[in-house]
Amino acid sequence: MLSPQYEILTSMSDSETSACEVAPPATGDMSPEEFRRFGHEIVDWIANYFEHIEELPVLAQIQPGDLKAQLPSSPPEHGESMETILADIDKLIVPALTHWSHPSFFAYFATSTSAPGIFGELLSAAFDVKSMLWRTSPASTELEEVTLDWLRQMLGLDAGFSGFIYDTASVSSMHAIAAAREGVEMRIREEGMSGRKDLPLLRVYASEQAHSSIEKGIITLGLGQRSLRKIPTDSQFRMDPQALAEAIDEDKRNGMLPFCVVATVGTTSTSSIDPVPDIVPICEKHTMWLHVDAAYAGSAAVVPELRHVLAGCERADSLVLNPHKWLFTPFDLSVLYCRHLALLHRAFSLVPEYLRTPEQEKVRSGSDYGVQLGRRFRALKLWMIIRYFGHEGLAARIREHCRLAKLFADWVEQSEDWELMAPVPFALVCFRACPAIEAKTEAERDKKLDALNEALMHGVNATGKAFLSHTRLNDQLTLRLSIGNIRTTERHVREVWELLEEQLRLLS
Ligand code: PLP
Repeated sequence: MLSPQYEILTSMSDSETSACEVAPPATGDMSPEEFRRFGHEIVDWIANYFEHIEELPVLAQIQPGDLKAQLPSSPPEHGESMETILADIDKLIVPALTHWSHPSFFAYFATSTSAPGIFGELLSAAFDVKSMLWRTSPASTELEEVTLDWLRQMLGLDAGFSGFIYDTASVSSMHAIAAAREGVEMRIREEGMSGRKDLPLLRVYASEQAHSSIEKGIITLGLGQRSLRKIPTDSQFRMDPQALAEAIDEDKRNGMLPFCVVATVGTTSTSSIDPVPDIVPICEKHTMWLHVDAAYAGSAAVVPELRHVLAGCERADSLVLNPHKWLFTPFDLSVLYCRHLALLHRAFSLVPEYLRTPEQEKVRSGSDYGVQLGRRFRALKLWMIIRYFGHEGLAARIREHCRLAKLFADWVEQSEDWELMAPVPFALVCFRACPAIEAKTEAERDKKLDALNEALMHGVNATGKAFLSHTRLNDQLTLRLSIGNIRTTERHVREVWELLEEQLRLLS
């Protein structure tokens, strides 16, 4: 059963839809008149969507297969009118959406798009450039360099870092590890890794709290999962540098080749910060590449008083951060800052005759720095976002999110029925309900609390009024409240707290 709430949007757009339906032309694209008409209608629709989004359930209230069952199993033989297609967006697609733009989306890392970002996406779809060589996309190539240099300055990073845009942090980190591997000078680009007796086991180190994308990158690069050594963390979920140093020493004694450490600033489960300043000297001692995964929390450094979260990164070799996480940029846009672009170039540049250009020695061409040939014009939206909000405006929004998270954390701490499960350095609160519960053993109590917290989370999510996710910390089910949406205000945070209290009363 689809949610009846789609009617909110259906009724909105019905009033605006004109009666005359136009079939698509036999050849060529939509006429400029029609494009203008539907373009205006769609922008109106989006404005209504944002105005009414709180009336929609945050988490899609449908069952697996519900949408598929309503879609034809074969494509239309003849083109359909835009009216028919747009009506189906209201009727079929919206109810099957989990609304990431809803201000009460608190799950995973809450993120959001923004108006200038949407306009940037729209224009970039119209330009449709393939940013592979400078000449195929001078605007994209040069705007990317300038915009990422602006962002670098806003983050307080030094000019030794050059930025590059990829789609996601998973891909950015994979490229960073590939550049690090290129730096070991073992002719892996030319000869590969398989069947080679002269190659020791190459090792990458990351904490046991590191994001799974690091392991996936290692798998993708053919290093194999055994190349990753997971380093234990302390009571606050931060990499233990002593354990890292010992692991590297041990691996070296065993004939392995440690070549890369991945430190995380803002881990996924708790947003903990690995002690980068203590990790740097270990990497320098062993001439290892230090990659910093700041996919989530790197953006916080645009707030002057939070710049310290990137302490030590001035001595890192590369750093990833995701404007699509916490800089109000529509998905996708991930930035890799790297000090050794020449190594990235060496790992990935391959220029066949048909891509040679007279200016290639003088310019930066995107396809030389990664797996992709054509790349989207992503810099446009980030440039528009930075210009529209300004450094100060971006900082104000992130600062407010951190304030709201601290406020929520205070309520948790002040209540006897709830407890914090991790420190709150940014805008993510890890917590759980811990009311007095009858249990014969500690293990039984833990089990009952896990079940209670899981039921609480599902109870809140089923209301459609807010969306929370979870993790496990110290083997205890932990709820996560992440604040990162541009529309989230104190009212939304109060409402989810009241919802949680209400669910707890119902379940106790
Ligand atoms: N690194 C960290 C710390 C993350 O939290 C995430 C996702 O949440 C990622 C990497 C992967 O991000 P992406 O979806 O951009 O690949």
